[in-house]
Amino acid sequence: MLRQYELVERVKRYDPGADEDALNRAYVFSMQAHGSQTRESGDPYFSHPVEVAGILCEKKLDCDSIITGLLHDTVEDTVATIADIRDLFGNDIARLVDGVTKLSQIESLSDRAKQAENFRKLLLAMSQDIRVLLVKQADRLHNMRTLKFIRNDARRNRIARETMEIYAPLAERIGIRDWKDELEDLSFMELQPDARSSITKRLAFLRESGGDIVGRVSSELIRTLAEKGIEAKVSGREKTPYSVWRKMRRKHIVFEQLSDIMAFRVIVGRVEDCYQALGVIHGHYRVVPGRFKDYVSVPKPNEYRSLHTTVIGPENQRVEIQIRTPEMHEVAELGVAAHWQFKQDAATDGKQYRWLRGLLEILEHAEAPEELLENTKLEMFSDQVYCFSPMGEIKELPRGATPVDFAYAVHTEIGDTCVGVKINGEEAPLRTVLKNGDQVEILTSADQTPSPTWESFVITGKARACIRRFVRSLEREQYVRLGREIVEKAFRRDHRDYTDAAVRGLLPKFHCRTMDDLFQAVGQGQFTGRDVLVTAYPESNGGVDPANRMVLRNGKDDKGEFAVPIHGLIPGMAVHLGACCHPLPGEQIVGISSTGKGLTIHTTDCDTLENFVNAPEQWVDVHWEANAEEEGGHIGRLLVTLANRPGSLAALTGVIGRGQGNITNLKINERAVDFFEMQIDVEVSSVDHLTDIIAGLRADPAVGQVERERG
Ligand code: MN
Repeated sequence: MLRQYELVERVKRYDPGADEDALNRAYVFSMQAHGSQTRESGDPYFSHPVEVAGILCEKKLDCDSIITGLLHDTVEDTVATIADIRDLFGNDIARLVDGVTKLSQIESLSDRAKQAENFRKLLLAMSQDIRVLLVKQADRLHNMRTLKFIRNDARRNRIARETMEIYAPLAERIGIRDWKDELEDLSFMELQPDARSSITKRLAFLRESGGDIVGRVSSELIRTLAEKGIEAKVSGREKTPYSVWRKMRRKHIVFEQLSDIMAFRVIVGRVEDCYQALGVIHGHYRVVPGRFKDYVSVPKPNEYRSLHTTVIGPENQRVEIQIRTPEMHEVAELGVAAHWQFKQDAATDGKQYRWLRGLLEILEHAEAPEELLENTKLEMFSDQVYCFSPMGEIKELPRGATPVDFAYAVHTEIGDTCVGVKINGEEAPLRTVLKNGDQVEILTSADQTPSPTWESFVITGKARACIRRFVRSLEREQYVRLGREIVEKAFRRDHRDYTDAAVRGLLPKFHCRTMDDLFQAVGQGQFTGRDVLVTAYPESNGGVDPANRMVLRNGKDDKGEFAVPIHGLIPGMAVHLGACCHPLPGEQIVGISSTGKGLTIHTTDCDTLENFVNAPEQWVDVHWEANAEEEGGHIGRLLVTLANRPGSLAALTGVIGRGQGNITNLKINERAVDFFEMQIDVEVSSVDHLTDIIAGLRADPAVGQVERERG
């Protein structure tokens, strides 16, 4: 295990300005936090964060990263908290440690095997700072190096598979090739031990029998190119056991047939030289057909550029050759990281890891994480958000998505029946905007149907389309039901029995195809009940004018025999309660039908009705359904004058609360020295309920005037 002074010395060697004191404190803090914990190997747990710091140190990462490496498991696995870290090491380190901790936590959520790509994207999206990702990668590398000590076979296997699917490709993406090779090899060792050992043996045999074949081939290539006046650097390497294995699987060949186990890289000065070198090599050695690829004129999507070819090389071996310029080489080796370097004109100190320098400079000068995302072009997937289902499945949603979007993404039926949501185990409103890594549990009920209000906050096309489709069919259903009621009542008022048969023949006259179409048209106010009645029975006078019926009803002489029943619940799209008078169950009401808007319910004393005196055809006789009160949710609006002194608002809300009224809105209209006037919306079950509350308020000394507000 790396000793404290060794670690500090190593960091100081490449970064003389490193905060030695902070490094020392982090070392001691981590050691004390992990205390007597041990790893499965029997080593003290503390050896792990120290080794992780050491791995980061090899990449000459900045002091904060090294400290984060030392502290990375303290929050997850010990009693230490992020607040402790912040107090002792400052905001930046706390943020980094928190980032690594969050990545570790989401690991345990996911069933990764089926969704590696999404999981990789989630990791990128969550590590807003690339150092978080680098520490996590170093953590994984050390865990893989010590994987053999884990006794549980299934767990060992799972970790190796996850490394192969998630972490090795990530290392490749951020351009750290040696980490990628090692992660792959260590996973391969666990997942396919027999294959790996036979490939390794075979590679060793070829190496021994051929001697320094890589060296010999290299020098011959250099000589051949030099003869034609091309100056080139050539390096060769044996392929890794895993890349050999992958090739064997992909090409369905056995090891004996797999002769090109060496790859050579030819680096020449300029782009033109690449093609010239290719010509020389093709002219000198026999070309293996079908293996030539020109990624210089057509780069890969990740901007990789090179010429690839395979020839029968100097010693009758198939060799793979890549030809490129130094610049292409940097992109190939360092991935996206190389771009940072090319941006930094001054970063020419010639050190091996100068790209990380460049990166660190950007990190230092980036003002906001967003700017960092811009600069690094790390495909951070900032337009997406990744959330887990309770089963660990990852859903990819556009940024700004809500639980309703999530529900529809899982299944249309889940969306249609969703009533609530638990985010990370806690109930939350359906309009909550989801964050990366949220675990989203949708609560459903078979009775639930999509709410038209959802449309105002969902952002995915699927959710919006489903809600619209539902709302449209619901709307039609309500208009049809209302229209049928209106027509039936019109017939009854004329002392006739309504039958479908009497009306069906009239459909063409109304340009309707079905009975429902006709009822919908009546519900929407395009035709009245009387229109239908008079068309069926031209001799009819259309019954008593409904406006007159209203007068009769004020005398309470009928039980709504001719009136259309209004459901207690806020009726929805076909029927609206007037915002002018807020009718409550128990009050005398009348409906005004207007084209396209359906039916608006007013109290019979509402001033708005004066506007319709000359349009009797728009009046529809209505009454409350018997159970309207039980359904609740009616709003009564009060205008209250309250004494301006301590405790009067409490007295007011106390009276309303004791009266079982629920205040849904409260607005101060006017504030004077000795009083203020406010408007209060109270949810009540009926007009009697509201009247009781008004009486209670009037009895309270803190309350001046109380009136029900109308119009
Ligand atoms: Mn760890």
